[in-house]
Amino acid sequence: MTPAKRKITVLPGDGIGPEVVDSALAIIKATGISVDFEKCEAGARVFQKGIATGIPKETIDSIERNKVVLKGPLETPIGYGNRSANVTLRALFETYGNIRPVRELPGVQTAFTGRALDIVIVRENVEDLYAGIEYMQTPGVAESLKLISREGCEKIVKLAFSYAVAEGRKAVHCATKSNILKLTEGLLQHTFEEIAPEYPQIVSKHILIDNAAHQLAMRPEQFDVIVTTNMNGDILSDLTSGLTGGLGFAPSANIGNDVSIFEAVHGSAPDIAGKNKANPTALILSAAMMLRHLGEGKAANDIEQAVLVSLESGIRTSDMMGTAKPATTSDFTGAVISNLGKTSKLSPPKKYTKVDLPPYHPGVNEVPARSRRLTGFDVYIESTLEPAQLAAGLDESMSSSPLRLEMITNRGAIVFPSSGRRVSLVDHYRCRFVLRDGVTRLGDEEILSLLATLGRSHRWMHVEKLQEFDGEPAYSRSQV
Ligand code: NAD
Repeated sequence: MTPAKRKITVLPGDGIGPEVVDSALAIIKATGISVDFEKCEAGARVFQKGIATGIPKETIDSIERNKVVLKGPLETPIGYGNRSANVTLRALFETYGNIRPVRELPGVQTAFTGRALDIVIVRENVEDLYAGIEYMQTPGVAESLKLISREGCEKIVKLAFSYAVAEGRKAVHCATKSNILKLTEGLLQHTFEEIAPEYPQIVSKHILIDNAAHQLAMRPEQFDVIVTTNMNGDILSDLTSGLTGGLGFAPSANIGNDVSIFEAVHGSAPDIAGKNKANPTALILSAAMMLRHLGEGKAANDIEQAVLVSLESGIRTSDMMGTAKPATTSDFTGAVISNLGKTSKLSPPKKYTKVDLPPYHPGVNEVPARSRRLTGFDVYIESTLEPAQLAAGLDESMSSSPLRLEMITNRGAIVFPSSGRRVSLVDHYRCRFVLRDGVTRLGDEEILSLLATLGRSHRWMHVEKLQEFDGEPAYSRSQV
């Protein structure tokens, strides 16, 4: 009996999506490998039908069956639903790792041509500020929660190193803002530093994200693989696409525990949609990444080489600089198909081995602490009182409590006890209560009782416990 053909879910998407997806499918078919495509809907038209996620159930079922998706860009039309269908897909299938490789391409002229750029951004794809957990704490002050987990950091760091090993790469940088965000961004840095020795063949180095952006603009050739948090990676990977020719050339893979989604970095380009003008290279290279993921390494190499040979031959779509007579999307697709089987003179195929994906840990992943201690709490209060007045009122309402007011901050700056500095105040204070001298034990009941007292005279929005894990404070202490 002949084995069942491998099926891939295909989401043509919006705008130029159907054009570039059809280009990639024609090229995959021309390699002669045995795969079937299951085309499904997602994006603008689905929102317009009233499906708030932009992704119908049949599409979700198809992805669950096939596990591998080739996807065009999806629009989130204004006025329908409130979350991007792209973000929903990533969250729904927990595609935690976003891999965005860029490299110098023959004949694609940029300010960095001749520097042999070949950089991969490995971006954590589901946590961080992009979880979109936001609140208006007062009518004038907004909050966004940046949640970073040890489990999420381990997975993305291991994915970055495994990817580096599979591609025979030399170095992995971890780019964070750990100098300011010591706990959240710092967690990625510390996890990276703990895991790096497991990969002695790879040079590992931490770099601050702002310096990474500066170095990428000045001396990008020093970078190989860069692993980073979600928002940093979103910004850095658009920057690296710009270094090598722009969005038309930037492929990506969203790697999950179970499902992986391959797509171009660019959007639906409504300005050129339906005109047969789009550059399909990014989606074609994403399809090559997908085939390599499926174990079809030869077809992946063939496609990448055919793209390079086509570019070497001088064929150009209208987005490429200095294009006198641009090729259409179909012309470019035809050129790639006719070049299948040829090898680039400038960039012959690289050696790849299978990426060893980090294991999925089912159930609830716990990081235990040997000891824990509750030492106080921060409460956020909406008030138009001056800091000293607010402090006096708070002190009075807690005279019989085991806690004392330690400080009040406004937009992060200490305003009580006063430093004498002039601070621009808003009606949003963070008040820190800590154990009085000589008191060693604090429980939820003391905090709840104090909150009940405070709530009678103040409007409070948010409470955060101050804890110690293994004797170390588990909250930020540095304040100005
Ligand atoms: P965009 O990437 O669609 O377009 C930016 C510019 O780049 C446009 O001038 C466009 O013509 C050009 N461009 C992009 N891809 C090209 C290609 N392959 N060939 C030639 N030129 C190309 O970005 P945008 O205009 O900010 O977004 C348009 C829509 O796409 C929005 O609804 C956005 O939400 C969505 N979007 C989706 C994804 C995704 O599905 N992953 C990513 C980004 C944006």
